[in-house]
Amino acid sequence: MLHTRPHDLSHAMEITAVAKRRCLARILHIRRLMANASALHRALYSLHDVTPAKESLVFEALEHLRALGVTGLALLVVPDFHSHADLRAYPAFCARLRQALTADDEILLHGYYHLADAQPQSAGRRLAAAALTAGEGEFHDLSYDTASQRLTEGLQVLREALDVQPSGFVAPAWLQNAAVRRAVADAGLAFCEDQLRIWPSHGQPIFSPALSFASRTPARLWGSLAAAEITGRLLPRQHVARLAIHPNDYRSPHLRQAIARVVTRWQSLTVASRYQEVLP
Ligand SMILES: [Zn+2]
Repeated sequence: MLHTRPHDLSHAMEITAVAKRRCLARILHIRRLMANASALHRALYSLHDVTPAKESLVFEALEHLRALGVTGLALLVVPDFHSHADLRAYPAFCARLRQALTADDEILLHGYYHLADAQPQSAGRRLAAAALTAGEGEFHDLSYDTASQRLTEGLQVLREALDVQPSGFVAPAWLQNAAVRRAVADAGLAFCEDQLRIWPSHGQPIFSPALSFASRTPARLWGSLAAAEITGRLLPRQHVARLAIHPNDYRSPHLRQAIARVVTRWQSLTVASRYQEVLP
């Protein structure tokens, strides 16, 4: 017959108490993980205007973002920037770009010429285009047919020059209309976006404000730096925040520092994601 001595009994009770504490801690940990998962904040990082016309700034930006730890990056490639930088005429640039890609990066089609070829019709749209684009709102007023043709040709250029099939489309200066969005879906692209939303080709738009910088004039530069201090703190509270970086940002050491501040802050508050991970 087994006799339990008082010492053994207290030892056994101690073990039971430890097990209970561990079990409770485990339950609390799982509940915390579940709470975090339901409030997951994602960040999408993109580099606009990837073109041989801005080669040195493009690679300076890439190097900086990699050094900051950004790997899943959307690269917005322009097939023929301002009609003088057809990717197919720059094999060395294309080889360098392919070499710089990581498995987590995505290539997106970004306009065709990145230059508007027609005057926007209404005064309001003309004003918006002038304020936002310096005449680069290429897809702002395109018809369905013209947009379709330009998308088809753009995809062909990227296939020939880079051997890639872009997953989505971003209109220059984020200016597009409903006909362009239909053309994007019909071209087999999974999504397009504007400054406030991602538009999946199938499904509801996703509210996802984008933070970007302006560098065209000193006033705009300082204004966008001040705005970034605020939006850089607010946007990570959104379900999906986007940071849009332009090669021209790297003309200013102030913007370079601001980008580093935003990326570092967002890395501690959000999960860096790919577009596929946020689409329905
Ligand atoms: Zn652009």
